[in-house]
Amino acid sequence: MMSVGETGGMEETLTIIKPDAVRAGNTGRIIAHLEDARFEIQAMRRMHLSRAQAEAFYAVHRERPFYADLVAFMTSGPVVAIALARENAVAHLRDVMGATDSTQAAEGTIRNLYGTNIQNNAIHGSDSPENAAIERAFFFAACDLVGR
Ligand code: GDP
Repeated sequence: MMSVGETGGMEETLTIIKPDAVRAGNTGRIIAHLEDARFEIQAMRRMHLSRAQAEAFYAVHRERPFYADLVAFMTSGPVVAIALARENAVAHLRDVMGATDSTQAAEGTIRNLYGTNIQNNAIHGSDSPENAAIERAFFFAACDLVGR
């Protein structure tokens, strides 16, 4: 039997194209990169996060020294949140995204191509199926999600 969050052999995750990449005009290129990597786009939303929204989204990082900077960055301009599905979606997105520090990200990854440094790294990707479910619910209602 399928559990919530699964669609056949598919797994679900969430990405956010961050303000640096949106500002640089790389939204379309990053979406194309994800489609070329066989991710299905289930829902997409462009928005400018409020401070309260960014603080809530990154609440797990509340105690980290970079939290205030991260919230300021994530509210510095519009983002594009995208609900994604494919086989092994969480791990595969982490692969195509690359390491957190854009300067260390492997050749050809999204952060290598479009990120600048450890903070301005172009894209977010959920780090587990559990967090993917929480993060997807933050941006999208069940009625927003459209399959193939
Ligand atoms: P991720 O899962 O690869 O996105 O990395 P983390 O969950 O560790 O961090 C969340 C986000 O915080 C990263 O994507 C960066 O935008 C930012 N970040 C992480 N480490 C640092 C840091 O040392 N300094 C700053 N300014 N931002 C950071």
